[in-house]
Amino acid sequence: MRENWKLETQAVQGEYWPSNAQPRVLPIVQSTTYRYDTCEELAKVFDLEQDTCMYTRLSNPTTDAFEKKMALMEGGVAAIATSSGMAATTLAILNIAKAGDSILASSTIYGGSFTLFTGTFKDLGIEVIVFDPLLSYEEIIALAKPNTKCIFGETIGNPLVNVIDFEKFSKVSKTLDIPFIVDNTFATAALCKPLELGAHIVVYSSSKYIDGHAQALGGVIVDGGNFNWDNGKFPGLVEPDVTYHGVSYVRDFGKAAFITKCRAQLMRNMGMTPSPFNSYLMNLGSETLHLRMERHSENALVMAKYLKNHPMVSWVKYPGLEDNEYYSLAEKYLPKGASGVLTFGVKGGRDAGRKFINALKLVALVTHVADVRSCVLQPASTTHRQLSDEELVACGVSADMIRFSVGIENTEDLIADFEQAFEKCK
Ligand code: PLP
Repeated sequence: MRENWKLETQAVQGEYWPSNAQPRVLPIVQSTTYRYDTCEELAKVFDLEQDTCMYTRLSNPTTDAFEKKMALMEGGVAAIATSSGMAATTLAILNIAKAGDSILASSTIYGGSFTLFTGTFKDLGIEVIVFDPLLSYEEIIALAKPNTKCIFGETIGNPLVNVIDFEKFSKVSKTLDIPFIVDNTFATAALCKPLELGAHIVVYSSSKYIDGHAQALGGVIVDGGNFNWDNGKFPGLVEPDVTYHGVSYVRDFGKAAFITKCRAQLMRNMGMTPSPFNSYLMNLGSETLHLRMERHSENALVMAKYLKNHPMVSWVKYPGLEDNEYYSLAEKYLPKGASGVLTFGVKGGRDAGRKFINALKLVALVTHVADVRSCVLQPASTTHRQLSDEELVACGVSADMIRFSVGIENTEDLIADFEQAFEKCK
């Protein structure tokens, strides 16, 4: 029944179901441990025969409710919450790739994910084949190797605000018989459902729109349950796990094989667990996800149009603008709105942009995006400041780029703030 509810209802109501006289609102179960009557009962949990909590590194009732809601909204079979978005991406890949394997990753992904792939994963012996998402299907296929284990991209890239071609990525995944993993952080299920567009695994930095209030760091992996892992390429999901008395994740957990393995092996061994309090905040934030995403998208479009017509602005990129190169992909995959992040350049380049940001009074300079408060960042002078101008161009970040995360304030106030800041740049 709950699967058939619209996302708005799922966001508000799912997935905490109190029985008689229990708290109406999801409680914070701030306990690391859970009591059992007998050794035999607890042993069943250790053997994965019984799905109850025994230690918060592996599961917790507050986190469990949040995970189930994320799976519900995304249309997946199960989810696991993590301590950060980086943890979610790390675990999602390590669950299927190991030293000697490779993965295909779009070049237009969050800088932290990029360095995770090209630095840490490389050190671990996992080759990351980075490709321009504008390459053709044939060109991407030609880059793949027999040991390639997945194709990875972001629905809306951070900070390039490009939209990926789901049809093309999905076709590559089908041809290679590998899962398609999507970071849906910027769009969220309120605007885009990757699992309905050929993706198999969805990852999140829930620190962004899911929480929505810049209060808690977290991540989520949602398992679509729609990939056949028993195709000879993923022995770790099929062959017996000796650390669990020979469990086969595919045989014993069916559609939830991926998430069960992720929890039972990687979460157990690495412990990238969210605190119950953060899960509570994520769950609370997500109750208004649909309303916020609608307003973020509306406000971003207003601000993109305003900036486009401003004499002191040299360029604006927002996939919701009709002349944006990703407009047709946004129309196809983000019909409810293109989310709240846009980029622009101030005439006069990097220095003029810095002056503009320093003059803002309402819109804050912060290392964050995707919360209710509007904020800006100049990647060239902050997150990407170690790169030369040539290197910046190579990764698609121009020296004058300002990333603007449009909040849910009144746009008249945002425009007034921008106007006074532009005045000071003259
Ligand atoms: N994915 C995307 C698209 C992001 O924007 C970020 C962070 O900005 C991450 C992943 C990493 O998430 P976290 O900061 O929660 O570790």
